[in-house]
Amino acid sequence: MLSIIIPAYNEEENIEKTASVIGGIMEENGIDCEIIFVDDGSKDKSWELIDRLSREKDNIRGLKFSRNFGKEGAIFAGLKNCLGDCAAVIDCDLQHPPQLLPEMYNLWKQGYKVVEAVKASRGKEGFIYKTFAKCFYGLMKGSSGIDMNGASDYKLMDRQVVDALNELPERITFFRALSSWVGFETAKIEFNVAERNAGKSKWSFKKLFKFAMSNLTSFTNVPMQIVTVTGIIFFIAAIVIGIQTLVKFFTGTAQEGFSTVILLILLTGSFIMIALGIIGYYISKIYEEIKCRPRYILSYDTNQRKNRKEKGDE
Ligand code: UDP
Ligand code: MG
Repeated sequence: MLSIIIPAYNEEENIEKTASVIGGIMEENGIDCEIIFVDDGSKDKSWELIDRLSREKDNIRGLKFSRNFGKEGAIFAGLKNCLGDCAAVIDCDLQHPPQLLPEMYNLWKQGYKVVEAVKASRGKEGFIYKTFAKCFYGLMKGSSGIDMNGASDYKLMDRQVVDALNELPERITFFRALSSWVGFETAKIEFNVAERNAGKSKWSFKKLFKFAMSNLTSFTNVPMQIVTVTGIIFFIAAIVIGIQTLVKFFTGTAQEGFSTVILLILLTGSFIMIALGIIGYYISKIYEEIKCRPRYILSYDTNQRKNRKEKGDE
């Protein structure tokens, strides 16, 4: 059985269409599937729709978060609760073409453990967004060796991979990179990002920036190493300038160099501030991890109702 995990946050305009499109494709291709909608604390009617669908169709299940925990939490909730031999993660807005699912499923049948859908084109995105994404992926590749150009959250994974991901203990997760970090035989197929079916993108620039920072720091320590290296360079410069100053002092030409002092104070001062900032950022990540809070809190699972029904309580 294939589990299809769909994170949804304020997607009332998309849920029914997505469910029917995906359901239709699966039926056409004779693939046995369960569709899991994870409602990430939506404030609109998303949950009512999911709940209704789950009553109408046996293979649709809904999980509801107690508040908005973010897409990462939603994906991992789906992975934790899915029952399939393989699981696919797909967006709720039909930007990830579900027509690819049967092809991905067949690749899985051929023995691939991870089938990644990579973006051949990034669809309609603003210039700033594109540049930002490029910088981020460049930094990721340069510092942690994970090539994520074109990577998306649209993936199909074998049970083994799902279990491996479920066992990861960290709180701050980055599904897109973790699913390649765990390894396994991977196949890639390309897709063109479609336009959003309805509604607006749920990511603000601030949210994306925070997301990028948190992912970079959870995959690489390079920024901290940059701090050390720059510190060493500054130290060498300080020795050279120190010697020069002393020589000038002893030869009696020490009047000048006032500007050098100011420059140095400014430079070292700003460098120390940046360094402290970076270190502070890592410490805050450690702090978040060490609290061991769950990645999400479920407030409702439509399977509870189904189970009660089977027992005859309802
Ligand atoms: N999403 C979510 N929680 C959030 C933000 C987004 O579950 O806090 C879901 C959203 O419902 C959609 C998917 O993540 O199914 C991708 O979101 P969106 O389309 O807004 O992102 P974009 O396509 O612009 O990257
Ligand atoms: Mg989208």
